[in-house]
Amino acid sequence: MSFDTQQGRFFDDSNPELLLDKRPSSIGQTSIAYTPAREILTRATGFMDAYDFTLNPYSGCSFGCTYCYAAFFSRDVEKRDSWGYWVNVKENAVELMAKRKPGALDGKLIYMSSVTDAYQPAERELKLTRGILEIMADRHKPKLVIQTRSPAVVRDCDLFRQIEENGGRVQVNMTVTTDDEDVRRTFEPFCPSNMVRLRAIGEVQAAGIDTCITMTPLLLVSSPYAFADSLVETGVQKFIAQPFHFQRGKFLAGTRDKAFDLMAEKLGCDQASFREEYLEHYGMVFDVLRDTLPELGEGKDGFAPPF
Ligand code: SF4
Repeated sequence: MSFDTQQGRFFDDSNPELLLDKRPSSIGQTSIAYTPAREILTRATGFMDAYDFTLNPYSGCSFGCTYCYAAFFSRDVEKRDSWGYWVNVKENAVELMAKRKPGALDGKLIYMSSVTDAYQPAERELKLTRGILEIMADRHKPKLVIQTRSPAVVRDCDLFRQIEENGGRVQVNMTVTTDDEDVRRTFEPFCPSNMVRLRAIGEVQAAGIDTCITMTPLLLVSSPYAFADSLVETGVQKFIAQPFHFQRGKFLAGTRDKAFDLMAEKLGCDQASFREEYLEHYGMVFDVLRDTLPELGEGKDGFAPPF
């Protein structure tokens, strides 16, 4: 299924003549709603204020990370509690991008995405992010940073190259948080495994696109040296790390105790002291990474625009 940018409707790839009136209302366990948005680019503020715009083709996110700060932007408690089980498609996102005057985004720093993942499972079918990128590649020279946890980003390497060939810039950031699948399943229950993410960002790198691995947050790492080696093997040259703020961090309903229990168990301490133990662990892993990786930034400075 693809989105027809001229007609503003979805159609069936296997039969391009057939426009579908019925769009999927669920994909896997995620329920999907479609609403028009007023704008597709939002002025960047706060943590992202060094960028001109953030771009979120969806709201909600099927990856359902238990610590996702975006979940807490929703005032709707039901939406917050069911985070990971719903996605809202900005159905006119491609038309909104198409309405921008050609060249209007030349040189503009755009961060995609700040409150969703542009390559979440629904994107494989809906191709909304791809539709937006096609317009960008045809009409603009943006400086685009893509942040994802999904191997689906590999699909769009042709468009990233096209943007670069036309005079724009692209960097793909892949979030990788641990080498421990118990930890990943507890904190990021519906996300692809970290091995899958590493393979994918290696493919993007091999396709000649600028890449970065963002360990934000860096959770527990079982084998720091082997982890560092697996990062180097991807061929990626830039890395960013940031500790998890257990003190300030919010968790989705019913997930906090499980996360804290697991951290205490893995660190071999009790719940009362695991935060200090974790920070010590983070410092130790950070030192290993700094000694092994070509370039390692930390925190907000690490997220400064790369172009
Ligand atoms: S992938 Fe990003 S937006 Fe999606 S749930 Fe995880 S942290 Fe939130």
